[in-house]
Amino acid sequence: MVIGSGISGLFVALEARKLGPVIVLTKGSIDDCNTRWAQGGIAAAVGPLDSPEQHLADTIAAGDGLVDEHAARVLCSEAPARIRDLIEYGVAFDSLGGEVALGREAAHSHSRILHAGGDRTGAQIETALTAAVADPLITVLDYTLATRLLVENGRLAGVEAVALQTGARELYETSNVVLATGGAGRMFTYTTNPDVATGDGIALGFEAGAEIADIEFYQFHPTALHVAGAPPFLISEAVRGEGAILRNAAGEAFMSRYHELRDLAPRDVVARAIVSEMRKAGAEAVFLDCTGLKSVDLAARFPAIYAFCKGVGIDMRTTPIPVAPAAHYLMGGVRTDIWGRTTVEGLYACGEVACTGVHGANRLASNSLMETVVFGKRVVEHLESGAGGAAKPDPAATPLERPAGAAPGHQAVQQMMWECAGIERDAAGLRAGLAQVESWKPNAHPVGREDHERRQMAVLASLMLTAALKRTESRGGHYRHDFPTRDDLHWKKQQVWKRDA
Ligand SMILES: Cc1cc2nc3c(=O)[nH]c(=O)nc-3n(C[C@H](O)[C@H](O)[C@H](O)COP(=O)(O)OP(=O)(O)OC[C@H]3O[C@@H](n4cnc5c(N)ncnc54)[C@H](O)[C@@H]3O)c2cc1C
Repeated sequence: MVIGSGISGLFVALEARKLGPVIVLTKGSIDDCNTRWAQGGIAAAVGPLDSPEQHLADTIAAGDGLVDEHAARVLCSEAPARIRDLIEYGVAFDSLGGEVALGREAAHSHSRILHAGGDRTGAQIETALTAAVADPLITVLDYTLATRLLVENGRLAGVEAVALQTGARELYETSNVVLATGGAGRMFTYTTNPDVATGDGIALGFEAGAEIADIEFYQFHPTALHVAGAPPFLISEAVRGEGAILRNAAGEAFMSRYHELRDLAPRDVVARAIVSEMRKAGAEAVFLDCTGLKSVDLAARFPAIYAFCKGVGIDMRTTPIPVAPAAHYLMGGVRTDIWGRTTVEGLYACGEVACTGVHGANRLASNSLMETVVFGKRVVEHLESGAGGAAKPDPAATPLERPAGAAPGHQAVQQMMWECAGIERDAAGLRAGLAQVESWKPNAHPVGREDHERRQMAVLASLMLTAALKRTESRGGHYRHDFPTRDDLHWKKQQVWKRDA
């Protein structure tokens, strides 16, 4: 059984059908997932001058001292073969003059980003995989929410779920489950993620006894559209890669004051610079100015961004785009080994819900889509081998109690997390957030999707706040006002959490 129908869930289902029938549970429609919105592309060292070693070096540098080198080596060396698998499943990557077209993104030393449909890579992948899973061996149960993982004698035994359209509670007895539930952007007020991204899989895994790691590391994307009444649609870094410039409310190009790489500085640096400029001006946004890019056909190079901006009355060719940072990508999650095994036998995780260690404290752009398929393939190889077992538990894992209550509502938890555990954090804010979580009352008989999500969001909030409070340094996606520098002496290590038995 697979939980989730983004790239990781569908890819695992396709690979696993050779072992027998596969059921995919998904809480919305099949294509309601983060994958559908991915723009830039998927990273693989397939260019003539590139190599997996150089991809690895860039991945390690981006992760700010915490990348698991072994896992990252797996990622970078197996990436080219997984591109071939995606092509076989029908993904048509863009090409130029008969060769695959390779884009370049910040912190990559080579052009190694494959894309499809221009900036519609995720949608193209999701469409191709959705068509491929129309197979008698794969049953997709949409609008079906997984609510609990059942564990017997330390081994996975089944899944409890709710069929959302009828309200019927379902029980599936199964000994192998792959969590592919994606990220958690909806824990925050402003996010590029769709509303299914409430981090359910992390709470499900934690409650089942699986270890959770790196949960304090969250990536905020610096440039999401900021227009009243419109969702914070992602304005890809590739737009700055083409030469677009960030300007503050006074029209000043400010990034040279913050980093030598200016507009292409690391994402966390750009996000904090924008927050600082917004704060100084008392403004809610800064502006991404593409009006000087006369040699780029913006409508052709960025069709999705161009169309979305046009839809809200902004022609990016002539008008600077109002942008502000938004929650984007969760580096941490359910801890796995390089075979996707969690610390609970029979429970696997892959994709954004998992923490394989390849991102460390910060993700290298476009490694996330690749991580889903590299480790998804390995999950199935491991199942096929019949070796069983679980990931080795971390002896230093810290027991944590599950909070007694449920979030009072999505907006309340999002606002608390945005204010207390957002782009800039400090002890007072994190403690205030934890105090709120402790005051939340249980929802005794959760019925629909919202009720269950509120319960799971409380678990995730508690994990994120606790881990962020404990890490008294700044590193990657975790920035503390009160501890603004990286502290390798005490913190060049992962924090791992497990449920207090
Ligand atoms: C706007 C945007 C742009 C991005 N651009 C890029 C990019 O260019 N390159 C890149 O590498 N990455 C990019 N990313 C990140 C990347 O898209 C994601 O990390 C990746 O798609 C995650 O895939 P996934 O299969 O793990 O999760 P998802 O695609 O999010 O799928 C999760 C699935 O789980 C289901 N689910 C969740 N909870 C439950 C539950 N309790 N019960 C049943 N089903 C459940 C959801 O409904 C969904 O079907 C981007 C992300 C966003 C939001």
